[in-house]
Amino acid sequence: MNPHILILGAPGAGKGTQSDNIVSEFGVEHVTTGDALRSNKGMDISHLGLEYDTPGEYMDKGELVPDPVVNEIVKTALEEADGYVLDGYPRNLDQAEYLSEITDLDVVLYLDVDEDVLVARLTGRRVCEECGATYHVEFSPPEEEGVCDECGGDLYQREDDSEETARERIRVYEENTAPVVEFYDDEGDLARVDGEGTPDEVWADVREAIESNA
Ligand code: ADP
Ligand code: ADP
Ligand code: ZN
Repeated sequence: MNPHILILGAPGAGKGTQSDNIVSEFGVEHVTTGDALRSNKGMDISHLGLEYDTPGEYMDKGELVPDPVVNEIVKTALEEADGYVLDGYPRNLDQAEYLSEITDLDVVLYLDVDEDVLVARLTGRRVCEECGATYHVEFSPPEEEGVCDECGGDLYQREDDSEETARERIRVYEENTAPVVEFYDDEGDLARVDGEGTPDEVWADVREAIESNA
């Protein structure tokens, strides 16, 4: 059976980048609430009687999308996956509790990156609109500016990667998601990886952490 891997870290820590490596190496599926929600930004959630009627309104402000919406997405995705790397979830303690009810984890990774590095990573991030590959204007630029190396698609900047929204997301992370990291740490399950090296250096540590824990 393929491993069940959870990857934790602040916005911009490198979760998506390392998840792509994990998928190639371990044959698992990348389950990411961020991508799932971006594909469903306009979904009508008005029947839930929440503050806003679509996920996109929360996302563009850097706020968390409410648990009932996100929990449902994760439950369905995990049921369908033969091994996974889960990225972007859980983001608060209630989600962590829910996750423990629907699945068992083999490895919990935490990418440790300082806050001042995060803003630079987020504001320079560019994503391929065709295949989702991730670049950085300074730290991992494509060969030709604005064009994806993998598929030739156009690169764009996510709306929530503006400096203002990036800072708000980091604040929301500190308030809601940092306790989730502590929760797994207290359970003794956390494999802490220094996320500030080059992508290849971080990958070497991530791979080793998975091989020695799975
Ligand atoms: P997350 O999924 O945690 O938000 P990403 O994997 O999308 O993070 O990475 C955020 C940005 O930082 C991207 O532009 C990516 O190219 C860049 N990046 C990822 N890992 C590193 C690294 N080790 N060093 C420098 N930049 C990185
Ligand atoms: P990053 O890793 O760069 O912070 P994501 O792509 O994971 O960004 O998430 C983008 C946005 O999607 C978040 O700011 C939030 O609004 C929403 N989102 C993603 N995952 C969750 C989650 N588990 N719970 C609530 N909101 C979420
Ligand atoms: Zn592409």
